[in-house]
Amino acid sequence: MSKHSIAVLAGDGIGPEVMEQALRALSVVSSKYDFELAYKEYPVGGFAIDTCGEALPKETLAGCEAADAILFGSIGGPKWDTLPLDLRPERAALLKLRSHFDLFSNLRPAKIYESLAHLSPLRPDIAKNNVDVLVVRELTSGIYFGQPKGIEGEGEQTNAFDTMRYSKAEIRRIAKTAFIAASKRKNKVTSVDKANVLVTSRLWREIVEEVATDYPDIELEHLYIDNATMQLVANPGQFDVMLCSNLFGDIVSDECAMITGSMGLLPSASINEAGFGMFEPAGGSAPDIAGLGIANPVAQILSASMMLRHSLNLTEAADCIDNAVLKTLSDGVLTGELLPADQKQNAKSTQDVGDYIISQLSEH
Ligand code: NAD
Repeated sequence: MSKHSIAVLAGDGIGPEVMEQALRALSVVSSKYDFELAYKEYPVGGFAIDTCGEALPKETLAGCEAADAILFGSIGGPKWDTLPLDLRPERAALLKLRSHFDLFSNLRPAKIYESLAHLSPLRPDIAKNNVDVLVVRELTSGIYFGQPKGIEGEGEQTNAFDTMRYSKAEIRRIAKTAFIAASKRKNKVTSVDKANVLVTSRLWREIVEEVATDYPDIELEHLYIDNATMQLVANPGQFDVMLCSNLFGDIVSDECAMITGSMGLLPSASINEAGFGMFEPAGGSAPDIAGLGIANPVAQILSASMMLRHSLNLTEAADCIDNAVLKTLSDGVLTGELLPADQKQNAKSTQDVGDYIISQLSEH
């Protein structure tokens, strides 16, 4: 029986509520597929600021270092919004974890489930056209981290500047991630850049083409970011894997989230070269609904499934969770934010949705 240790960082807002359901789902598949998960919970985010004085306490970081994977909830909320930027939960915990573990590869799947196509702001014929995109975003370099950045000068002559910088090695490793991901999906990579204007994009394109020669069965196309964002609303069904730099991936992954129609459904993974990763819902801590028992647990449960698939190589168990979620959604067992105004009385609670998913896990 394989054994894996998981650092559980539930965080703030709805984090602990949805994490509870994800841990229940993991416990069912671990008995079903005969593996053992040892969880240790650690404080993070606003809760850690209140209880330990900092958003990422040393014992939390040490616990993550000792684990095989990190299952993360969400952090932040109005209570901590007035702290200096460097002390706020997202910067002090999330960004620090990403850079500490060199989690350069960010995977954000976005799918429109047929039974929920009405949630998409896109026209029904477009939304129903098999939309299933995986955004592979470079997460630790590019314009968000490039030096120099700063502000100088005075008055109207004040200049602010950022630096977009990519090395060949950084492009190569994220491109490989995208091609490997595509080989397990629909065999297509769309690389997003701005090679008509940016020098970094020209190097990006050159290296992506080099990497592509190792994957002759994968179709590669290049799109400029402006065209890619237009194509995403005009015909998102054409995409399989979208390979993006940090800045473009930030934009494209949020656009994908929007076209699916629900934040509460979208998981994400951030992984390093050794396969170690942090898995978390794409949305935030939803302070507006925290503590009400109405948060959608699906994104957290699918994040647990991504952990099994991408860091622990437990594919069957991951498939089992994905299928149980699919069945739950198509059976109409939904939290309130997925229902139209005139059907809100049919909304299920976080616990109800968790219970239904658990029952499906045992059946299939
Ligand atoms: P949010 O994603 O928390 O909420 C946006 C909207 O989506 C809200 O109406 C919320 O109720 C809804 N929503 C989100 N997840 C849901 C779920 N599982 N079920 C049902 N509805 C859900 O974004 P926000 O309001 O901009 O941010 C709230 C806080 O979260 C802020 O402090 C922000 O800094 C933080 N944040 C954290 C992360 C993270 O931890 N990775 C990411 C983004 C934002």
